[in-house]
Amino acid sequence: MNCEGVTRELSNYIDGEVDAALRQELEQHLGGCSHCTVVLNQVKMTVELFCDAEPVDLPTDVRNRLYAALQSKLGL
Ligand SMILES: [Zn+2]
Repeated sequence: MNCEGVTRELSNYIDGEVDAALRQELEQHLGGCSHCTVVLNQVKMTVELFCDAEPVDLPTDVRNRLYAALQSKLGL
């Protein structure tokens, strides 16, 4: 898995919506990639801000803007 693939799955990973094999791949990459770890932490913080105490899905437009911001940050 490369950084682009990790970025694409980050939101699902944080939501716990990835299967065990994919989770392992993501964690393996994150373990060796400080760049994606930083992005993961930023997404987590953003998600926590949006979710507050409620386990709600991000609205689609928010999710899309978040991805766009991440992709420009990653230079994808
Ligand atoms: Zn990476």
